Amino acid sequence: MVGQLNEGFARGMVVTAHADDAEWGCSGTVARWCAEGWDVVYVLCTDGSKGSDNPEITSDELIKIRRREQENAGRILGLSDVIFLGYPDAYLEPTLAVRKDITRQIRRHRPDVLICMNPVRRLMGDGYIGHPDHFASGEAAMSAVFPSARDRLTFPDLLSAEGLEPHKVRELWVMGHEEPDRFVDVTGHVDTAVAALQAHRSQVAPDDADRYLREGRRRTGQHIGVQYAESFKRFRLA
Ligand SMILES: [Zn+2]
Repeated sequence: MVGQLNEGFARGMVVTAHADDAEWGCSGTVARWCAEGWDVVYVLCTDGSKGSDNPEITSDELIKIRRREQENAGRILGLSDVIFLGYPDAYLEPTLAVRKDITRQIRRHRPDVLICMNPVRRLMGDGYIGHPDHFASGEAAMSAVFPSARDRLTFPDLLSAEGLEPHKVRELWVMGHEEPDRFVDVTGHVDTAVAALQAHRSQVAPDDADRYLREGRRRTGQHIGVQYAESFKRFRLA
């Protein structure tokens, strides 16, 4: 299936490690979902407290700045909510606590499609070896999708104390996979995606955001014959 989105799905969730991860990886798809009336929420695992090499800035200031930037990006995209789990940046591990916190959000927001980061470290080329928080968030998100969100006896207090019924995510889409099989035409939404990435002013210069985002989407678009696209590895869950 190429280009069009699944009919009948109307709820999306994106689980990432940091503010700006989703804007780099899937903001065109999210912009399209929102434009088509989907209810979309972000779940950010970390507090973003390490993402600066400016010696003048403290972690506490950075947490506030990055939270505000992510909320601004969310408004541009049309997200229903942005949830910050608040784990310390750069130290994320796929613990049961992280898995439970993501499970809680899945049961609360009941997404049809959940997008997460690739849990596998890929050593594809010179210049970038990947961020450990990204792998950890992907692993925790996948484990929350299956089996934790689905099984009523896992994290039983989510049901007994919080009233959160189990939920089956219908499809899991993984960002940054070397063999993508789900391409989304985002040609009509790339301007919104750029604007959302540019909201992360502490992380990327506006011109760089525009150039890098369009270049990546243009390359992906060539695979399906459209101007701009994003790609994922899709898992349909029975
Ligand atoms: Zn990141």
